[in-house]
Amino acid sequence: ANAKQLSEGIAGYQAGQDERHLRELTIIQDLPAALAADTLSICYQPKVSLRQQNCRAAEALIRWQHPSLGFIPPDEFIRLAEHTGHIELVTDWMLSKVIAQAALWQSSYPGLKLAVNLSPVDLIDEQLPARIQHLLDQARVPAKVLALEVTEGAVMQDPERVIRILRQLAELGIELAIDDFGTGHSSLAYLKLLPVHEVKIDRAFIKNIEHNSDDELIVEATSRLAKGLGFRVTAEGLENREGLAKLMTLGCDTVQGYYFAKPMPALDFERWLQQFQQTAVDYFSEDRA
Ligand code: C2E
Ligand code: MG
Ligand code: MG
Ligand code: MG
Repeated sequence: ANAKQLSEGIAGYQAGQDERHLRELTIIQDLPAALAADTLSICYQPKVSLRQQNCRAAEALIRWQHPSLGFIPPDEFIRLAEHTGHIELVTDWMLSKVIAQAALWQSSYPGLKLAVNLSPVDLIDEQLPARIQHLLDQARVPAKVLALEVTEGAVMQDPERVIRILRQLAELGIELAIDDFGTGHSSLAYLKLLPVHEVKIDRAFIKNIEHNSDDELIVEATSRLAKGLGFRVTAEGLENREGLAKLMTLGCDTVQGYYFAKPMPALDFERWLQQFQQTAVDYFSEDRA
């Protein structure tokens, strides 16, 4: 490249950097007020039991439609909130909304469990169990309506402390899951030390499972070991019927993915649940495309 091209390239790069920087600043600045004004929302994605062919649980996922930036993926603003100390606001907002929703759904869908994702930063807060107990008490709902998802990395940052906090959460009666399993560096043997009930195998191993025999082997070995160690196994990110047939032979207990449903606003989720109670068998039948 000549000098002119090079300097134009640098200018372009600089402009891109500035733009990204501005976007990040806007996100960081607007998040607290957006939470306070309840302009974020929550979608629910069903977790389907393969044996029972029913849905008794869902994962709650945060959504932010920003007035000028449009839809901001949760991965993006969660990462920023973790770095700026705003994550506690996000987590408390999610927990209180999801617990309130669980309270509403108790009578119409008894036994339905809602899972909230925690960030690694949440898990070094010694006050977390008390914060959650307080929110449950306020809403007058039992801890068993709630599940929490944490990643391997969240545990590894400070295992002793995080395990202590996880144990307190489990003692409250909250179900715990290891999220995105297989993408971190911990082993199943290590997981055995955690007071965790469920292992969620990352979408990376599920998304091509019907074509990739390596993925199939990984999922089979992981789920056999995890179940042997007493964990329930969930496969994340199933998108088609061929993959479902595979997962049923590989010993997974529950499945979450676009094949059954994308994450949906609460009302759509309710409609989906009612529809699924009638038609679950169709999702499992050979004829379904
Ligand atoms: P995650 O906890 O692993 O959530 C699963 C993600 O996979 C969700 O993305 C979901 O929409 C997506 N997904 C589920 N099934 C399929 C599928 O079949 N195909 C494809 N392509 N994707 C599928 P989402 O909602 O964009 O969330 C991304 C991540 O952001 C989450 O990963 C979680 O780590 C984080 N996140 C979302 N909401 C929250 C929250 O309230 N608090 C915290 N701390 N993190 C959150
Ligand atoms: Mg999750
Ligand atoms: Mg995940
Ligand atoms: Mg994730």
